[in-house]
Amino acid sequence: MRMKDGHCAALEVRHDAAGRPEFFCTIYENRPEICRDLGRGSPECLGDLETKAAAVAAVVAAPSARPAPQV
Ligand code: SF4
Repeated sequence: MRMKDGHCAALEVRHDAAGRPEFFCTIYENRPEICRDLGRGSPECLGDLETKAAAVAAVVAAPSARPAPQV
């Protein structure tokens, strides 16, 4: 797994109409086995989310993750 800016390079942060961040795996169909083994919402997944909360906050706050201003 290649890393970029402290997170998986395949992770893309998008924003919904209300500006809330949404997280997408850009290689979802081809994601590695370790990602497939971590069931979404499983205790292991939730534990990982808690452990990495600060890193997630940094990704969301990064200028490249913010939506472009509407003109
Ligand atoms: S599912 Fe795996 S490959 Fe996809 S963004 Fe998350 S860590 Fe990266």
